[in-house]
Amino acid sequence: MTQMVFPPPPVVSLAILNSDARLPVRRIYCVGQNYAAHAKEVGAPAKRDAPFFFMKHPQDVVASGATIAYPAGTENLHFELELVAVLGKPLFQASAEAALEAIYGYAVGLDLTRRDLQQKLRSQSLPWALSKSFANAAVLSAVNTAVDASTLAKQTLTLKQNGDIKQHASLGEMMRDTATLLAYLSQMGALHPGDLLFTGTPAGVGAIARGDTLHGEITGVGTLDLCFAND
Ligand code: MN
Repeated sequence: MTQMVFPPPPVVSLAILNSDARLPVRRIYCVGQNYAAHAKEVGAPAKRDAPFFFMKHPQDVVASGATIAYPAGTENLHFELELVAVLGKPLFQASAEAALEAIYGYAVGLDLTRRDLQQKLRSQSLPWALSKSFANAAVLSAVNTAVDASTLAKQTLTLKQNGDIKQHASLGEMMRDTATLLAYLSQMGALHPGDLLFTGTPAGVGAIARGDTLHGEITGVGTLDLCFAND
């Protein structure tokens, strides 16, 4: 066996609803500005010719139910509640139909964002990787393998901050649906089982304060909870 000079990082995995098995996470893709009302609130064009993506690192994952510290490097951390698709099969230069077939399940995800850093970097035309990828930046519920994909466009997404509704939208407001996005990504290179896709957030994103509690729900998919420590 190959000897490692220090212990390799642990395999990051997600819980699966009604199963003892775990879902190993490979890559985490996230699409930007996939809801027109959110694109508008961040001052972006309503619809772009092509989707654009950024990534989070698998080691950024934290499970729903956690209490986390407010991260360093920001004073304007934002919540973005999103539907997340989990791939169960490889996919390369695939159609939307094939992409839909390759989805193993769906989860509820929070794309935590250092908005102040993102805006600063974007204004300088610099990559905003560090605004999106940091410890605990990808909060995920258990994976639901029993979602009826044909009903997804009718499901609603709701994010409550300390009990107050801040985001509420229909998944049908997505400009590009999950299968279309995965098919697009698969044109650029092979996707693999365990790859995740955050499908974008609707309007209503906002700042998190220390001590806040967040509760997310996507009907037909699941729920997510996150607490922030007071200090
Ligand atoms: Mn997002």
